[in-house]
Amino acid sequence: MIYFSTRDNKHKADGLTAVLNGIAPDGGLYMPERFPKLLPEELSGLDAMGIAKKILGAYFDELTAEEVSELVEASYAGRFENEDLTPLVPLKGAYVLELFRGPTQAFKDVALSVLPHLMAAAKKKLGVKKEMLILTATSGDTGKAALSGFCDVEGTRIAVFYPEGGVSAIQRLQMTTQQGNNVCVCAVRGNFDDAQSGVKAIFASEQVRQAFEANGFLPSSANSINIGRLVPQIMYYYKAYCDLVKRGEVLMGEPIDFAVPTGNFGDILAGYFAKKMGLPVGKLICASNANDVLTEFFTTGRYDRRRAFYKTASPSMDILISSNLERLLYLVCGDKTKAYMEQLSRDGYYELSEEAFALLKREFFATRCGDDGAFAAIRRVFEAEHYLCDTHTAVAFDALWQYQKAEKSGAPAVVLSTASPFKFPRDVLFALTGSAPDDEFAAIKKLEEISGLLAPAALTGLKGVLQRHTDVVNLKEMEPYLIRKAEQKTW
Ligand SMILES: *Cc1c(COP(=O)(O)O)cnc(C)c1O
Repeated sequence: MIYFSTRDNKHKADGLTAVLNGIAPDGGLYMPERFPKLLPEELSGLDAMGIAKKILGAYFDELTAEEVSELVEASYAGRFENEDLTPLVPLKGAYVLELFRGPTQAFKDVALSVLPHLMAAAKKKLGVKKEMLILTATSGDTGKAALSGFCDVEGTRIAVFYPEGGVSAIQRLQMTTQQGNNVCVCAVRGNFDDAQSGVKAIFASEQVRQAFEANGFLPSSANSINIGRLVPQIMYYYKAYCDLVKRGEVLMGEPIDFAVPTGNFGDILAGYFAKKMGLPVGKLICASNANDVLTEFFTTGRYDRRRAFYKTASPSMDILISSNLERLLYLVCGDKTKAYMEQLSRDGYYELSEEAFALLKREFFATRCGDDGAFAAIRRVFEAEHYLCDTHTAVAFDALWQYQKAEKSGAPAVVLSTASPFKFPRDVLFALTGSAPDDEFAAIKKLEEISGLLAPAALTGLKGVLQRHTDVVNLKEMEPYLIRKAEQKTW
């Protein structure tokens, strides 16, 4: 399969090269030349890993079926709570697709379990000898999931930058206690957008390229700008659909809606890819928190990042520059994408043409939900169903209810649940009881008592563990910090 840059289709690469590059040389994102067709009928009898193999095989056809099969098994076997990977839980008003049953309790595990193995396979196939240096900006969950995926993987090193004070205490502890000889974690004085822009600038910096080159490193990204992050996420949309058909809840071919808590637009875009491939997806409901730049975009056709940045109870969605939207833009306005991206970086906004906007409105419903609304949703779902959801998933629940009311839709709906409620214990507890202790671990305990659930051992086990990674840098220091790391090869 050939992949093109969203900014100039002169820049093309095969799938494996696209994964190793992470981002196209002109700063654009790689897009497949076409969407492989895959109907859910063709997946009957397959489990989650079987579905993942079909999808990865279609997008990375440079690999043999055996290579794909091996890489999927190596990625998932034994890393998730069970073989089902992403269980679908029926509630009265909707189904919840639990994407947080992996090693770091966030949906990013689904893709970041695969990416290191995909990169290893790509290196082998292309005969690349250099060590990969994975650069990652995180709003909280990508960092830990990437660290866990790449930890001690031969031929790779990883550096993670997170916004100081912009992630939950548990998320921070998950990262700062990370074991492994090839990992580096550093806080940045700024918000997620700053950290992400810093990483993008590093990719574009000639000086960094030279320092990496001279020391035998090949830089790449574990953020969802990497097509190798996006493609593995398509799996769970198909799996949810197949589960519903299997249980007799929907008829084969009947469309279902998905509500997706959204930040960088990677998760929901994977759903749109699934639709393009032939999965009967009805509406994709794009749920934002108070950082509602996407709600504005899908309701007015105008993307405007010149706005206040809010810290919310759903920190992994605190994003104003939603990277993957560039891929959607490319699908609806083709070679105008480059000009829009330039305008966004120069003027802070761009505005779609009428036709492109009309097209998007048919496919997406977007809305926002603030912290109070999210807390109310956590309470409502717990009281009505005795189901405990996290602050990000709560935003999606609220968005689904808003959609069902506005469009009088009765189609079956799936809410994507992106994190374990025990990752954000103080906010979830506050939502349920109106108060929470300062200590996160005390809050976890209290939540366990109220819900009757056991918190994942990976989270309770963080208490008192030595924090190995304590570096903090200013934005301007990110580049020299990395150059120093590369030169000294200390990790
Ligand atoms: C990353 C993340 C999101 C947002 O996903 P995007 O692909 O960035 O839109 C939502 N919820 C949680 C818990 C996350 O970690």
